[in-house]
Amino acid sequence: MNEYAAKVLANLKAKNAAEPEFIQAATEIIETIAPVFDRHPEYEKEALLERFVEPERVIMFRVPWIDDKGNVQVNRGYRVQFNSAIGPYKGGLRLHPSVNLSIIKFLGFEQILKNSLTSLPIGGGKGGSDFDPKGKSDHEVMRFCQSFMTELSKYIGADTDVPAGDIGTGAREIGYLYGQYKRITNLYEGVLTGKGLTYGGSLARTEATGFGLLYLVSEMLKCNGKDIAGKTCVISGSGNVAIYATQKAMQLGAKVVAMSDSNGYIYDPNGIDLPAVKQLKEVERKRIKEYVSTHPSATYTECCKGIWSIKCDIALPCATQNELDIEGAKMLVANGVMAVGEGANMPSTLEATKYFQEKGVLFAPAKAANAGGVATSALEMSQNSQRLSWTFDEVDAKLKTIMINIFHNIDDASREYGMEGNYVAGANIAGFAKVATAMMAQGVV
Ligand code: NDP
Repeated sequence: MNEYAAKVLANLKAKNAAEPEFIQAATEIIETIAPVFDRHPEYEKEALLERFVEPERVIMFRVPWIDDKGNVQVNRGYRVQFNSAIGPYKGGLRLHPSVNLSIIKFLGFEQILKNSLTSLPIGGGKGGSDFDPKGKSDHEVMRFCQSFMTELSKYIGADTDVPAGDIGTGAREIGYLYGQYKRITNLYEGVLTGKGLTYGGSLARTEATGFGLLYLVSEMLKCNGKDIAGKTCVISGSGNVAIYATQKAMQLGAKVVAMSDSNGYIYDPNGIDLPAVKQLKEVERKRIKEYVSTHPSATYTECCKGIWSIKCDIALPCATQNELDIEGAKMLVANGVMAVGEGANMPSTLEATKYFQEKGVLFAPAKAANAGGVATSALEMSQNSQRLSWTFDEVDAKLKTIMINIFHNIDDASREYGMEGNYVAGANIAGFAKVATAMMAQGVV
């Protein structure tokens, strides 16, 4: 590896030893962009990589709120404003008990490159809290969101930092957050994306990440002489990304046979009945295992990792980070998987990713494959600035063009650096190139 990149990576590991997810993401990125520094020795003189790996700002704050029984609860809030070289910070808010600084930093770091790949003017950031919306009443969620936004509102704005949804932050939470922002600042502006359609949201934003994943994966297959139609897919998760990935996969002629939640997975050899999953997860907020009570052809298995033992042509991990490890990768390869597309952020461990690549599996990494969500968020920002709304078809067409372009950019970058077919390297290099050029132009800041 390039000596300068290796030195920065070693320092990063020493300095952030208690942040394993951040180190994992940074290791993959730095290892793959290292050849860029051979071609650009001037970056070292300007300490470009040292600056790139350090967030511009980290905000951590107390979020006190009162539950339905009148007890005071305290959670911790985060916003990592990582890089604004190419636009205002942009990235979601994750509400999940596992949230900590390491996870928010890994997500924010990945977001810089992902946002760059969309070709739209958005920088990288991420935020969230260890608050768990599961099992809370609507009023409890509202009180939490209002307290969270009371603090966060000091640091964000339509031209500064534009948060969005992520795990645990859906339409309900975005609505409460937006209401509180407006109340505090007296500004009706596009400060959040993923908003409801009656107050500045974009058509197709809900579908965007899942649809975008399938647009990119089918382009990857096409450019490698394969076709998605008639293929069998396994999709983990049953949240926003998984549901719309399933919908688009089916529209493109694939058969989705398995989905999951954090308790277990369902396998339906007849093909998943998506309206039934939507009813369970989006309307009734129930567990996926309920599916088998109305679908006798299906089975339910406790523990979600077993989903990778199901034979399929295409695997789309759409739940959470590190859900697909080396055991899962080995099972998929043994069963003849031809392509993996990451709908979730960093769902594959480093070991699993390398294994897929060694075995010649087409592998579309998250920062390219799931960029459709943030790309459509940026389209929502454009509509808010114009005070206009585009039709579903207009937004969907732009999304499709963006995803196809992303695939070709990462493919071209992998070839340019002599790593043809390595889309992990291609995505990191293509995303980094634009940010590095902007950072160099803006001086040491
Ligand atoms: P949701 O909260 O809507 O859904 C998450 C899904 O993953 C649920 O089915 C959940 O199950 C499951 N899940 C959560 N934790 C685990 C776990 N530890 N093991 C197995 N399954 C788990 O989130 P999204 O669909 O929005 O996000 C999914 C992933 O996609 C995340 O990595 C997110 O960062 C990424 N992403 C999302 C984007 C978006 O636009 N929404 C954009 C880009 C990336 P349960 O219901 O049991 O919690």
